[in-house]
Amino acid sequence: MKSFTIIGGGVAGLTAAIALHQIGLQVCVFESAKLLKGIGAGFGLAANAMQALEYLDLKSGVVPLGHYLETYNILDEKGNILAAPDTNTISAQYNQDNFAIHRADLHQFLLQRIDPNSLHLGKRAFKVEQNAQGISIFFEDGTVHQTNYLIIADGVKSQLRQSLLPHSKPRYSGYTCWRATIDNASVQLKIGSETWGSKGRFGMTPLVGNKIYWYACINAESNSKKYSQYTIKDLQENFASYHAPIGTILQETKDEQLIWNDIIDIKPLEKLALGNILFIGDAGHATTPNMGQGACQAIEDVAVLVDELKKTSDVPLAFQHFEKRRLARTRYITETSWSIGKIAQWENPLCIATRNAFMKMLPEKIKQYKLKTLLSVDFMTINNP
Ligand SMILES: Cc1cc2nc3c(=O)[nH]c(=O)nc-3n(C[C@H](O)[C@H](O)[C@H](O)COP(=O)(O)OP(=O)(O)OC[C@H]3O[C@@H](n4cnc5c(N)ncnc54)[C@H](O)[C@@H]3O)c2cc1C
Repeated sequence: MKSFTIIGGGVAGLTAAIALHQIGLQVCVFESAKLLKGIGAGFGLAANAMQALEYLDLKSGVVPLGHYLETYNILDEKGNILAAPDTNTISAQYNQDNFAIHRADLHQFLLQRIDPNSLHLGKRAFKVEQNAQGISIFFEDGTVHQTNYLIIADGVKSQLRQSLLPHSKPRYSGYTCWRATIDNASVQLKIGSETWGSKGRFGMTPLVGNKIYWYACINAESNSKKYSQYTIKDLQENFASYHAPIGTILQETKDEQLIWNDIIDIKPLEKLALGNILFIGDAGHATTPNMGQGACQAIEDVAVLVDELKKTSDVPLAFQHFEKRRLARTRYITETSWSIGKIAQWENPLCIATRNAFMKMLPEKIKQYKLKTLLSVDFMTINNP
């Protein structure tokens, strides 16, 4: 039997491993971390991701681990509503709802469904070579693994992508981000929101188990020494003029709960398939998180890949068809999310006042246009003859 190898045990790699195994393919995963625990905070799985999970027969296992989101408001720094997307109407298009889950819970769920013998931890790949026998994957521990087909899912900084496509370096968005998951007991947050103001953005979402996932984005130089040392006290000072319950949320967070990283993506690639090699997830089309679609697109990738692999035993052809179905959609998300981020991070008070007045004035229908363009299309049908 031909062998498939996946590099990277994130959402993309683990979901792909489960799905390929389900359709009877021989698959193994190599992950650089010695322990997989799903670092990060929460994330939103929009209706399209829930549909993809359903297609992959994984939805019923994921649903008990999170909860559905009714709405998600965009606010100004005083707490006035700038946009209130009617996610229920949009979700109706998919017959699915938007969902919030802690990253660690999703990882744990995926890990439980993987054959432990097919998962190899502590293995960092740094080079691949295609030859007559197939593909050789070279690891930093000196070992080499031979495979017929390779799925690269090692994330936005993908070492393998950068060695195969040297121009595909990550690009910095211009803002840096802190995240944490905390207890909701003293905040009692009921709905999610994102606040746009002159000192940056602040987002919050309730999670199951009476927890809150929050994030804050501030404009900064890349890899800033100043911000690398930022503490909760600094964030409290930065967001002091913002509406409640931002102050309480920060007060309830401990410094050791903070996760900090610069927000990066990759400029949309021209290719996702290179013969017997395929890029999926962030390795192929990392996006800034402004539309909350990175992991959603990784899960969509897997649903489309499985659909193609079921149709033919010619794997390079399936990879080519995958590319045709995925390039335009993922490009749209990366580019739209990049522009949303630029507008959301404006600092100039005059620009902010104009933007906010314009947003309040626009009918909801138009404000939701980008989201609708994304969610009203069934991704399984795009370029699928
Ligand atoms: C602040 C923030 C908020 C976000 N919010 C959302 C959201 O609400 N909704 C959403 O859908 N998405 C969201 N995302 C995006 C989402 O986190 C990513 O799109 C998703 O995690 C990508 O999964 P992946 O498996 O492709 O990559 P990753 O999660 O990066 O996994 C890659 C894996 O590969 C391993 N690896 C790396 N290099 C190697 C190597 N050389 N050899 C072997 N293994 C290697 C890594 O250790 C890692 O386990 C957010 C992202 C950020 C930064």
